[in-house]
Amino acid sequence: MRYSYICEKKNMDLLSVGSVAFDATETPFGKTGKIVGGAGTFISLASTFFQTKKGLVSVVGGDFPIQTLNTLKDKGIDISGVQIKKDEKTFFWSGKYHNDMNSRDTLVTELNVLEKFDPILPSSFTQPSYLMLGNLSPVVQRKVIEQLTVKPKLIAMDTMNFWMDILNDELKRTIGMVDILIINDEEARQLSNEYSLKIAAKKIQNMGPRYVIIKKGEHGALLFGEGKIFYAPALPLEEVFDPTGAGDTFAGGFMGYLSQFDQYSFEKMKRAVIYGSALASFCVEKFGTQRLTEIDSNDLKNRVDEFYQLIEFK
Ligand code: AMP
Repeated sequence: MRYSYICEKKNMDLLSVGSVAFDATETPFGKTGKIVGGAGTFISLASTFFQTKKGLVSVVGGDFPIQTLNTLKDKGIDISGVQIKKDEKTFFWSGKYHNDMNSRDTLVTELNVLEKFDPILPSSFTQPSYLMLGNLSPVVQRKVIEQLTVKPKLIAMDTMNFWMDILNDELKRTIGMVDILIINDEEARQLSNEYSLKIAAKKIQNMGPRYVIIKKGEHGALLFGEGKIFYAPALPLEEVFDPTGAGDTFAGGFMGYLSQFDQYSFEKMKRAVIYGSALASFCVEKFGTQRLTEIDSNDLKNRVDEFYQLIEFK
């Protein structure tokens, strides 16, 4: 790592890295054809609700709609780190949800452009205050960290069981370099070999991250760190159409919220969990990224208020 600890001019608040993809999802409420998805897309869209300087590193093929990238740009994301491989195909993922919508089967994963993805950070991206590493190969995630020239205030990382199955040693190395690991309950259990989420979080903290966030789908999220635990429920919704991207939206909202501040604290992280959960609650209301592109900051504020009412007591 080529970190310099001398205070240098800050040029980006939040750098996100993740897939920009085509998805096809099937839920008990319907089925989509190929629609825009990808962890990087959901993370970036969620982060646009916070007035900070943001950038995205990713890769797409020549088949990806340029207007989607322009939408991200118009919403304030610097997309100069998104490579376009003209003669290749965009990453494609397809999944089918079970009736409870808390679990799904992956039907298709076509890596395409992701197979040889070499993330190259433009020079203006190398000193972010906050870094969000979306679910990608742990080797790619590490390559991003290695290009940073200043240590970020916080590096957060998402991953999935796929990488635990095929690249566990690489994954552990990358996990050892981050401050926050954001994963779901099933993944936390697999990574730690523990059933108790409290013990699982402790074991993951021993791997490196000072903080661990365990997402439990419709049952909310747990934040562990500094010897404390914070729990936020998910907002009970009347309609859940498509949970795809909810975890990424949570992560983008969580880091987007924190990226507004020069200093983070456990109290700020608690509020960040609520903002992440509020944005994720919108994401699931329609297929793909649609709902996130319809709402505005007022909708978000109202939903955060609903969270306060849900959990407030004296
Ligand atoms: P989530 O529902 O939060 O787990 O995220 C779903 C998103 O992750 C979808 O939009 C997919 O395109 C993307 N995705 C699924 N598998 C992978 C993978 N192996 N690498 C990168 N992105 C993936």
